[in-house]
Amino acid sequence: MSDKLLNGQVAVVTGGGRGIGKAVSLELAAHGAHVVINYSRSADAAEALKKEIEAAGGSAETSAFDVSDSAQVDEVLKALIKTHGKIDILVNNAGIALDNLLVRTKDEEWERTIAVNLSGSFYCARAVAKTMMKARSGRIINISSVIGESGNAGQAAYASSKAALIGLSKSLAKELASRGVTVNAITPGYIETDMTSDLGEGATEGILAGIPLGRLGKSEDIAAAVAFLASPHASYITGQVLGVNGGMYM
Ligand code: NAD
Repeated sequence: MSDKLLNGQVAVVTGGGRGIGKAVSLELAAHGAHVVINYSRSADAAEALKKEIEAAGGSAETSAFDVSDSAQVDEVLKALIKTHGKIDILVNNAGIALDNLLVRTKDEEWERTIAVNLSGSFYCARAVAKTMMKARSGRIINISSVIGESGNAGQAAYASSKAALIGLSKSLAKELASRGVTVNAITPGYIETDMTSDLGEGATEGILAGIPLGRLGKSEDIAAAVAFLASPHASYITGQVLGVNGGMYM
């Protein structure tokens, strides 16, 4: 339908099959975008989501690649650009949290966290930059974290990867602005997903005490912010860090 904000646009959502990524895929599709739902392992969840989007009258496809594998990212995104002629929106959402205290953190945990959360976002942004620059328009939205802003005990690797993602976003925003491409970061607070499901009894109460709005976030809260940044309403916004955190960090 021509009155939808993102009609005719092609959006790639990494890790788009579940959690926050699923809500983002649904929201962008509801606004008329054709959504490429990336997944690394959960093909079934991605396929089910594609069907859900189509049943609601939207358009989607699934795409398997590991964001931390630069060659795979280049190959798959190149093929997508060939098929669709462009990619208008990239949402770097894929992420992992391998939390551990500093002295217990293994090299592999540190390296994998940086590889997925930071390098993965860099590889995907690099792979779509040319087509966006050529089109003189494009949106890159990086899902960072409140932890990248505040830091957190037991999350050195995760916090470092998410803080670095903010530096990446601002640098790309400066570099790509003259070509009409905006780059922004969203820093979710505590969002109810698989990633935060094993907190244990009592932990949620402690977390709630630190959230002025008095509730955990929903994936839909993040999806709404992504859709805004992807929309024409946000055409004058770049290099920004949008906290969607219930006031948890100001
Ligand atoms: P989730 O674990 O439910 O989803 C993460 C997604 O990333 C999954 O679809 C997973 O398959 C995908 N993924 C992981 N490694 C991948 C790889 N190598 N290649 C491709 N896909 C890969 O987590 P979520 O809570 O939905 O988190 C989504 C994003 O939001 C993450 O970047 C996370 O760090 C960030 N975030 C989450 C919260 C929260 O409270 N849940 C808070 C702040 C930031």
